[in-house]
Amino acid sequence: MFKIILQAFNSHRLVLASIALVLGGCSAPIADIDGERIQRADSEPGAWLSHGRTYDEQRYSLLNQINADNVEDLGLAWYYDTGTNRGLEASPIVVDGMMFATGSWSVVFALDARTGGEIWRYDPEVDPAKGKDACCDVVNRGVAAWRGKIYVGALDGRLIALDAATGSEIWSVQTTDPDKAYTITGAPRVVKGRVIIGNGGAEYGVRGYVSAYDAETGKLDWRFYTVPGDPSEPFEQPILERAAETWSDDGEYWKAGGGGTVWDSMAYDPEADLLYIGVGNGSPWSREERSPGGGDNWFLSSIVALRPDTGEYVWHYQTTPGDNWDYTATQHIILTDITLDGSPRKVLMQAPKNGFFYVIDRLSGELISAGKYEPKVNWATHIDMETGRPVENPDAQYTEDDAKLIYPAPYGAHNWQPMAYSPDTNLVYIPTMEIPFAYKRDSKTEYHRFNWNLGIDVATQIIDAPQTPEVKKATRALVRGSVLAWDPVQQREVWRIAQDHAWNGGLLATAGNLIFQGSGGYFSAHRADTGQKLWNFFAQTGIIAPPVTYELDGQQYVTVLAGYGGAFALASGVELPVSEHHKLGRVLTFRLGASEELPGVTAEMVAIPEPPDSRGGKDLIDSGSLLYHRHCSVCHGANAVGGGVLGDLRTMDAKTHELFQDIVFKGVYAAKGMVSFAPVMSEPDVEAVHAYIIYRARQDYEILKGEQQQ
Ligand code: CA
Repeated sequence: MFKIILQAFNSHRLVLASIALVLGGCSAPIADIDGERIQRADSEPGAWLSHGRTYDEQRYSLLNQINADNVEDLGLAWYYDTGTNRGLEASPIVVDGMMFATGSWSVVFALDARTGGEIWRYDPEVDPAKGKDACCDVVNRGVAAWRGKIYVGALDGRLIALDAATGSEIWSVQTTDPDKAYTITGAPRVVKGRVIIGNGGAEYGVRGYVSAYDAETGKLDWRFYTVPGDPSEPFEQPILERAAETWSDDGEYWKAGGGGTVWDSMAYDPEADLLYIGVGNGSPWSREERSPGGGDNWFLSSIVALRPDTGEYVWHYQTTPGDNWDYTATQHIILTDITLDGSPRKVLMQAPKNGFFYVIDRLSGELISAGKYEPKVNWATHIDMETGRPVENPDAQYTEDDAKLIYPAPYGAHNWQPMAYSPDTNLVYIPTMEIPFAYKRDSKTEYHRFNWNLGIDVATQIIDAPQTPEVKKATRALVRGSVLAWDPVQQREVWRIAQDHAWNGGLLATAGNLIFQGSGGYFSAHRADTGQKLWNFFAQTGIIAPPVTYELDGQQYVTVLAGYGGAFALASGVELPVSEHHKLGRVLTFRLGASEELPGVTAEMVAIPEPPDSRGGKDLIDSGSLLYHRHCSVCHGANAVGGGVLGDLRTMDAKTHELFQDIVFKGVYAAKGMVSFAPVMSEPDVEAVHAYIIYRARQDYEILKGEQQQ
């Protein structure tokens, strides 16, 4: 009897196992994405399998159904409302008819790539208080796909594996110390069965590293620290002993972490078996504050090559030795093979924040060439090819007594927004920025976990003037963006598309002789060879994400996430150039001949409330301005000008004014991410900030009303 039951049980189990096998083989999406399939990505150009499409992260598609001859017929095929109102920066993964992307607060969604219909949605439920630790918005740059799983790094430092078919959680690991200001905004990459993930938070004082987790189990495999830690502890990796020699002995940088976070770029060369990571700025920004007495401070602002199996250090190239300006080298890394002086070279290319374009031998780390890609860059004159080091401009050395107007700003001459490289034109397309910043050292402020710890005087940003059309025009003349077509062999500009707005989207290049990009509320297509504009679409919000393209049932699609946000949008105090925009996030997908329309900008043109009567005298307003710029402006905008992401404080309604002390001091809006600032401000401080905002609201009231009536 027992034997019969056992037989029945066994055969039943066999049947269940076969069903599972069938389900696994046929219906589970992305079940067979692995390194080999990603390496063969060019054999299935209809898919977008990994962050930059391929491991070399060129962001070039072989699809050419949409091309320079017919792109004018491109129309909206479908849109998906993400239900968010903060920045969207993700590169969707598209495979097997499904699209996987992320929105603000690390929410993941899986869509039907043909229709935009939602298949599943996963919310990691990040504590809104964590939003304050995100220097540059509660953004996320996308997922990775591998053997039936989707991986996302959540803002609070978790790395989470989801079932690609259902969105249910398979495993979750905390990759950071939750008591520190670490965040994750970057997309994971999967290399040889390991999920590689970095983190951010250098402005608040953290120590950077990158980690590798087993893709199946979530077990930590290795970790590479980018800066040395507590000098009384042993070095975690042999190379850190040498790195420590590049930091001053008396510096107490390690107490604040030193920075060097790996918050975005990575690339992988399977043949060389090298993983490349981009490393961020120092913490604090001022090198005198961070490493008194000097030193290059390895591996800040460096590109580092590692063995993906072990995390072992192979080589590095430091773009900005002794970083003094927040010049991260976390910007997009592209791998390609180019011909130089008649011989083929395997190179790595990067346009980091510092304004120089680097071509590096990716096997040895040798610098091949470097060219200034933004003419106004003045912190260094050139890169000395003998030493491989920048030659700093002596006239651009800022001190405690002397502010210096330096290009580029901490936003960079190029930030995280991805470039694209077309092997048809042999050009690199870079979303560049021409933005100055008045740097001035500040040695008076003490490290505080709650604060930005820059060692830089924030008062240089303050402009005590109404935002008149003349002031706005002057700002726009000073703060500009462009798409730059750059010849990496000759290190020279081929052409440039000047733009009305500085903070724009990433790039996509295609075999249709096209590049796609979002800028200032529009999504556009240009000829890849000449830059000629061929098509655009009003997206009703700013676009910062990079587009992707894919093909299904013989039809090519182009997708971009539209949702304005990120560092410049929050902090700069520069508004989008279009007035008819909203803050709703959307996935927009286009194909030839489609004619779907977005719902009109009903933008209930809310009345601009008349601000309360002025409070306090000049002293109170001035102290409020300083406190505002120290604690509030990084999210609410310099000079209380909201960039179009969070509410513009000049247009607060009567209720918000009434609750102001409760919101800022007591944290009654903590569930929205606006935490209490009691750790760094007293109630009288909050009163002073309020007096300053009312002062600014009154300065601009008539101007804002006038703009609304236009
Ligand atoms: Ca930074």
